[in-house]
Amino acid sequence: MKRRHIFAGVCLAILLTSSAEALAAESPDAAPAPTPLGIFTTTGYCPCESCSGRWGRLTSTGALACAGHTVAVDPQIIPYGTRLMINGVIYTAEDCGGGVNGNHIDIFYDTHEESRAHGIQATEVFLIQQTAVPDAVPSPLS
Ligand SMILES: [Zn+2]
Repeated sequence: MKRRHIFAGVCLAILLTSSAEALAAESPDAAPAPTPLGIFTTTGYCPCESCSGRWGRLTSTGALACAGHTVAVDPQIIPYGTRLMINGVIYTAEDCGGGVNGNHIDIFYDTHEESRAHGIQATEVFLIQQTAVPDAVPSPLS
């Protein structure tokens, strides 16, 4: 339980600093220009059993999934650790999924209702920053 609480704090910090506005405000000169990656199919998923089986919030990179932060990708297309902007929100690629192949991104939500409400969308995705070191993804489980 203690671990959950610590993670919730980290999660909140990430949410507070990962908007495009915050990024630009921190370093207006160094703010990387988003690179359009094209139109991706986006869907939603949540920690429930029908979406994530027995994994819950545990992602394939070992990080715990966080709404407004985590997306599942096809790592052959988008390497883990890549930061993506989708509908103005900056996400980090840190999970994969059996149905996530090619130009498809699965966006993590806290509840099944929200993930269903997302439906299937065609969304332009932008690359913010690419990290080539998947091990750098902080894992609260290690
Ligand atoms: Zn679900």
